[in-house]
Amino acid sequence: MSARPKKSFGQHFLHERRYIERIVAAISPRPDDFLVEIGPGEGALTFPLLAAAGKLTAIELDTDLIPELNARAADIGSLTIVHADVLKVDFTAMAHREGVSRLRIAGNLPYYISSPILFHCVAHAAAITDMHFMLQKEVVDRMAAEPGSKVYGRLSVMLQLACRVEPLFDVPPGAFRPPPKVDSSVVRLIPLSPDERHDADPARLHAVVKAAFAQRRKTLSNALRQLMDAEAIRSADVDPKARAETLAPADFVRLAKVQVASER
Ligand code: SAM
Repeated sequence: MSARPKKSFGQHFLHERRYIERIVAAISPRPDDFLVEIGPGEGALTFPLLAAAGKLTAIELDTDLIPELNARAADIGSLTIVHADVLKVDFTAMAHREGVSRLRIAGNLPYYISSPILFHCVAHAAAITDMHFMLQKEVVDRMAAEPGSKVYGRLSVMLQLACRVEPLFDVPPGAFRPPPKVDSSVVRLIPLSPDERHDADPARLHAVVKAAFAQRRKTLSNALRQLMDAEAIRSADVDPKARAETLAPADFVRLAKVQVASER
């Protein structure tokens, strides 16, 4: 296949065999897995994954790529292509419908919507065994960053509260056609088990983390002013003079669970 890659769909097709092999080895598909690939493109990962697992469901937004994917898959295994925007795919319902407890998700993601895709998958974490994604290296660095790091922020906190984040290896621009402008990395995400997951209200947690990092140079009592006062912050065992970038993910959970004066 050699259609002209479409910029508007974030198409950068992987062509270097050694990286394709490393990604497939990291995923290590087994015949009883229910594998879902986001954005199969021309099939660089699709066909080796299909060969290993025997079946695969792929979600692709670009209709033009689908006939060729189906034709090439015919001799390899059972490929189901869902023509959809991945952000509209309900992974929990998919697992239900397919009669499997959980999905394994993989993909060389379209970079223009990589964060929305991550948040979308995290919302379905209970229906997912693991995820292997190719992303901009800068995004993977932010996902895995620890408190105190310059790139620690909202993405680090929200992802680390839902998943174990394991950066695996970097991939240079030359491994893709056309080459993206940035370096890429492959990351593994393993959703936390039910007893490891936080029990804060998701909307409240989201609001607290967003406000805290919107003004990351400010103290928490300033940054969270609209949500809670210094006394409420202290009651969560957090110093109101601290800055968001120094807090561990668990600190944000305690802040989200504090009853503010207006609710008492
Ligand atoms: N997996 C292929 C590879 O590694 O060569 C293609 C990866 S390319 C970076 C991203 C793929 O995601 C493209 O095939 C693109 O058409 C598809 N895509 C873009 N936006 C999408 C969306 N919202 N939902 C599903 N697929 C999308």
